[in-house]
Amino acid sequence: MIPPTSDTTIAYLGLGSNLAEPVEQIKSARRAIALIPGVKEIACSSLYRSLPMGPQDQPDYINAVMAVETGLSPQDLLKSLQKIEKAHGRERKGQRWGARTLDVDILLYGEQVIDLPDLIVPHSGIAERSFVLHPLSEIAPHLTIPGKGDIADLLAKCPLVGLQRLD
Ligand code: ADP
Ligand code: MG
Repeated sequence: MIPPTSDTTIAYLGLGSNLAEPVEQIKSARRAIALIPGVKEIACSSLYRSLPMGPQDQPDYINAVMAVETGLSPQDLLKSLQKIEKAHGRERKGQRWGARTLDVDILLYGEQVIDLPDLIVPHSGIAERSFVLHPLSEIAPHLTIPGKGDIADLLAKCPLVGLQRLD
């Protein structure tokens, strides 16, 4: 992993889609994220297929995790990611954990712990979700997640059930 320069931070982003050709949604989102001014892609995991969380009457998800180096603040990064979600047809009127064309979450922003009304980092659920931990560990196997511990320890407690690596 390339170390960040002093005024940039490595952030990890979780991508998910289960509507309108999810594999293409994720690939297109990855390209769009790499084009955000002030954001540079460092790494991207394989694609994974996962079972839906919450409501089960929806298609399987395609997930991936990207590492980016960014000079943007966490809030500005979130705004840019939400624009990309919108450009990919994301609508926010559905039920919690309902089907979506594109979801991009900030999993980690350096070692920062952020607790704002609209931004919680590390992302809640990061430590338990197999569709986050497995792709994340693929690109950052030695990561320590602030407040949660080493990713290897979290993975050991996280069953692989319902998760399939593609490619
Ligand atoms: P979810 O990802 O939980 O399915 P949404 O993508 O609709 O839900 O996001 C709901 C809200 O979660 C957003 O409006 C955003 O402000 C908030 N949020 C809090 N922490 C984060 C984070 N780390 N990354 C992305 N969104 C976050
Ligand atoms: Mg989200």
